[in-house]
Amino acid sequence: MRLKRSGFSHSLGTRLVWATLGFCLVFTLLAVAVRTYLAWQEAWAKMNADLTLVEQVYRQTLSKAIWEIDREALQAHMDSVAQVRTIGRITLTIHSQNRSSEVIERVTPEWQSSTLAPTHRLDLVYVPFPGGAEKVGELMLAGDERVLWARLRGEILNIVMAQLLQSLLLAGLIMLMFSRTVTVHIQLIAHHLGQLTPETMGAPLRLERHPALKDELTLLESGVNQLQDKLVHHLARQHQYENELGEHRDHLADMVQARTAELEHLTLAQQLVLRLSNRLIHASHETFDACQRDCLVDVAQRLGANQVLWLVPVAGQPGFGLYAQWQRGSVTTDTSGSMPLPSLTQVPIRLAREELLFFLSQAEMQRSLEVHEAEVFLGQSFGANALALLRGDDEDYGILFIGKPLGQGDWPPEDRALLSMTVQMLLHSVRHNMQLKQIAQTQDALRQANRQLEVLSRHDALTGLFNRRHFDDIKLDEYQRALRSGQPLSLMICDIDFFKAYNDHYGHAHGDLCLQAVAQAMQSAIIRGGDVLARIGGEEFVALLPATTAAAAWAVGERVRLAVLGLQVPHAKSSVGSWVTISVGLAQLQPTVHADFDALFHAADQALYRAKENGRNTVASSQQAFDTPVT
Ligand code: GH3
Ligand code: MG
Ligand code: MG
Repeated sequence: MRLKRSGFSHSLGTRLVWATLGFCLVFTLLAVAVRTYLAWQEAWAKMNADLTLVEQVYRQTLSKAIWEIDREALQAHMDSVAQVRTIGRITLTIHSQNRSSEVIERVTPEWQSSTLAPTHRLDLVYVPFPGGAEKVGELMLAGDERVLWARLRGEILNIVMAQLLQSLLLAGLIMLMFSRTVTVHIQLIAHHLGQLTPETMGAPLRLERHPALKDELTLLESGVNQLQDKLVHHLARQHQYENELGEHRDHLADMVQARTAELEHLTLAQQLVLRLSNRLIHASHETFDACQRDCLVDVAQRLGANQVLWLVPVAGQPGFGLYAQWQRGSVTTDTSGSMPLPSLTQVPIRLAREELLFFLSQAEMQRSLEVHEAEVFLGQSFGANALALLRGDDEDYGILFIGKPLGQGDWPPEDRALLSMTVQMLLHSVRHNMQLKQIAQTQDALRQANRQLEVLSRHDALTGLFNRRHFDDIKLDEYQRALRSGQPLSLMICDIDFFKAYNDHYGHAHGDLCLQAVAQAMQSAIIRGGDVLARIGGEEFVALLPATTAAAAWAVGERVRLAVLGLQVPHAKSSVGSWVTISVGLAQLQPTVHADFDALFHAADQALYRAKENGRNTVASSQQAFDTPVT
């Protein structure tokens, strides 16, 4: 059943039996052929011997009966010979001198002539007296072929039966032997192998045989057991590898988890630093220091710290001062300018080498630093601490101290990274702020310079009054404003009388001094806020007087003229008097008459011309009614 299920139609034993039977059949056929041949030979020889015996027995008697012409005896002998079963035909030929030969014949019923059966031919000789032999006849004996075949059939039947029996017995024996010695064990082995599992691999194969038997099955049994042993070892090794692999996998998973957590912390730290950097970048110059302290406190809180100190070098003094101080639960203190702390020597040297120093406990910090230097930092913090150097390009920006309370852990890599990033951030922000300060200072200086430049570009260097450029800049605006508002606008042009002669007489330097004095006097006489006095030429001045009528302008002109006269600057070459004087031309804007500012200016210039014409040291107006009477 099992074999059929496995796709086999015959067991090994059956195949062996069929093979044996086949072999036996072939062997039987060969044996039958050989033995038939031998049996034929034997039967033939036996028949031949029978014929020879008959010859010997009847030779004398037949010869004598022929000689004596004893017919009865002859017939009796012939009948007697014919009784021999192996003889098919007896032919007796009797020779006679006087007559023809007589033939007496006996034939077995249904005998047929054959070439296979032996045939004997014998001359019958009678010796009536010694030495006198005479041939009396001839005897021919022919064997009966059917006897030969009958013997052969019996023999063949015997042979076939014996061979078949022998073959069947042999096959049965082989089958039995094979089944008992091989098939049973092979089935057991197959069953054993079929039942094998990793759990049963340790149970060895035991064939139910005598232990003394050593043959191929013993080899197979030991081979299977060796294979099982190897498999057991292999499975054990594989199991061990799997365990190790599992441990490695677990370890790897732990490492990945730890690394992921570390990266997450790092990312959070980076985001925090980025946020703080943005705050610092966008902080105004005024709020920068406070913002920087706030950022530092944010980082300290993220680190689980309870104390922060920021020490900065004090300019011109040894040692450090407190720049910022924070303790959990208190607000940040701006302590800049407070009392210098005891000088630190060892800490800056060590930080210059390492930039960041981490201590896992207060005790470690005390051991690692000079006692008095450690005391500077150890206040309320009793746990892990860190020191960081803010290393500048030319000078250091200070030292940071971060203190943790007891139980806040040590310094894991992500905290160290955060502190390192914070240091970089503060360094950059300090540098950035310093650059901003420098830029602001430079901008201030530039603004100042621009202002001065502006003043200079709009003022006359000699007198300090506005110059022509400024006057040109504002004149049109004032003109337009007056037109829009309908307010009066007056223009006054002043010119020093005989100034060329003054220069020639007193020298150019004195001329300059005179110009300055005249300018001051004029400026002091023009007192209204909106009025603009400018020097537009060598000794020519102009005053733009918004919201001023011709009459009011005339009053201003008179005031100016008198102010200059009141200086009493000697002028030996003036035909007007002995002091420096000015002539003043005035014009009030009349929109219908003056199409543009130049027209207004021209009108004032004309008035000045008239003032000169009128004898100088006088005021003339485009509305002549206001002209100063000539004195
Ligand atoms: P008038 O009464 O007709 O105005 O006669 P005047 O001599 O003043 O005539 P004019 O306007 O031709 O002369 C102006 C003189 O002013 C010529 C020049 O020597 C002098 N002057 C112009 N600018 C300066 C200056 O900046 N400093 C000095 N010292 N003299 C100047
Ligand atoms: Mg002039
Ligand atoms: Mg002049």
